[in-house]
Amino acid sequence: MTTALVLGGGLAGMAAAAALAPHVDTVIVVESDRLPAGPEPRRGLPQAHHNHVLMAGGAKALDALLPGTTARLYEAGAHHRKIGRFLLLGPDVWSRCSDGDAFAITCSRHLVDHTVRSQALAGGKVELIDGTKVIGLVGDQSRVTGARVEAEDGAVRVIRADLVVDATGSRSKATQWLTDLRVGPVKEDLLDTGLAYVGRTYEQPAGFGADFPGVLIQARPGSGPEAAGGALMPQEDGRWIVALMGPRGNHPPTDEAEFLAFARAMRHSVIGDLLAEARPVTPMRSARGLANRRRHFDRARMPEGFLALGDAVMILSPNFGTGMAVAAMGALALRTQLERSGFGPGLARRVQKAVAGIGAGPWQMAITNDRWFPGVETNLKLSGGDGQRKFGVRFAKVIADNPAVARRMQDISALVAPLSTMMSPSMMFAVMRGPQRPPLTAAEAIGQFPQLASVRPGAAPGRLPEPADAAQ
Ligand SMILES: Cc1cc2nc3c(=O)[nH]c(=O)nc-3n(C[C@H](O)[C@H](O)[C@H](O)COP(=O)(O)OP(=O)(O)OC[C@H]3O[C@@H](n4cnc5c(N)ncnc54)[C@H](O)[C@@H]3O)c2cc1C
Repeated sequence: MTTALVLGGGLAGMAAAAALAPHVDTVIVVESDRLPAGPEPRRGLPQAHHNHVLMAGGAKALDALLPGTTARLYEAGAHHRKIGRFLLLGPDVWSRCSDGDAFAITCSRHLVDHTVRSQALAGGKVELIDGTKVIGLVGDQSRVTGARVEAEDGAVRVIRADLVVDATGSRSKATQWLTDLRVGPVKEDLLDTGLAYVGRTYEQPAGFGADFPGVLIQARPGSGPEAAGGALMPQEDGRWIVALMGPRGNHPPTDEAEFLAFARAMRHSVIGDLLAEARPVTPMRSARGLANRRRHFDRARMPEGFLALGDAVMILSPNFGTGMAVAAMGALALRTQLERSGFGPGLARRVQKAVAGIGAGPWQMAITNDRWFPGVETNLKLSGGDGQRKFGVRFAKVIADNPAVARRMQDISALVAPLSTMMSPSMMFAVMRGPQRPPLTAAEAIGQFPQLASVRPGAAPGRLPEPADAAQ
């Protein structure tokens, strides 16, 4: 009789339960929240008040683990958006629309979690113990044999298991729990721009259709409004969700008028102009302390019978929209390893290595971008200096100009192609040649979307100024 115990019933936890179910007699998921019956907010998932896009790599992993997940999301009103069809102002230039296969699903995070959870629990093999908090691991340096959990009435008990999977997210205490068993230390990487989000949901104004494209203004390393970013995405039920974001020293405000002014003062006012016409349906919510953080369980001397997935391993700056995909792909790696070698010795180590491999590309993309923000705090030794920055700026301009390069980059961003494909000879040749056309003006970029023709810009800077040090 084999038992797997999953700590945390969020996205990584439910995906892990789905991966484990065919391979064990019992899967138990312990979750500190009382989980709602529908797509509703809950205390343990504060980030669900904010914009979440599910990248194609994650959508495919969820469909592999829980067939029919994306179909259910679409039935419930989620939108399928080609990455090349967002209105996108990158750190340097506006993007030309291009047709690749890479996509993202835009809907509320509540809907994603509800859909994944109901699918995972439907099979009957997964037992959910909610309203119960994990407070420690049980075992020793050689093997984890279970976890100590505390019910709402304060009663503490031990749940024994052959495999324990930590999926308690960004607030995971796994490194402390392992230290209590004299395991570790587990090295942690940190790169922190001091990023904060302020988010809100709106009714989509009449006149915009179900094919509203989604708008992204990416933050650009610098200070003041230059460093601000924003995303405005369609959700189910005819709603928009907006996220305004800024690094340390430029956090978005939570005052009504200042919020709109912040949105309008970004490098282009389009998000603010759209919001000015929309009716808010939720209060503003802020999220702070959004650092990149990676725990190297894969490199530590770990006991058998324990592994970690999702944000418990790696928290990515959310503006890349990759955290859920990495979590789902990690759970799929767990299933792959179980299919290959079952519950044999070394399972946890093999899965942890695979999970680290899945996260390596998204981590590199996030820190390569974020490292240039002034005042960044990090414990990493970062190589490459100004030359690398200039290369990045040039690359971004080529992506905005060259459809083949754009498609490759979209596949990488959506986690359907590895980061290594960015360095192929054809990509490098395109970067050496540089952009072949002048960058789009703001009017030309917005003009690609007939739906946005009615937007009246409060301020439109037109062609963006070149960074002083940018290579052409
Ligand atoms: C502002 C913001 C915006 C984001 N935007 C995106 C985006 O656009 N796209 C994207 O892919 N990702 C995004 N992310 C990242 C995404 O939210 C995470 O990567 C994802 O939630 C990770 O899933 P998880 O299951 O590992 O953790 P979580 O979803 O946080 O789940 C952890 C679960 O564990 C439970 N738990 C915690 N402690 C205990 C305990 N001691 N005992 C029992 N249960 C416990 C919690 O209640 C929760 O249910 C964003 C994050 C933030 C903060």
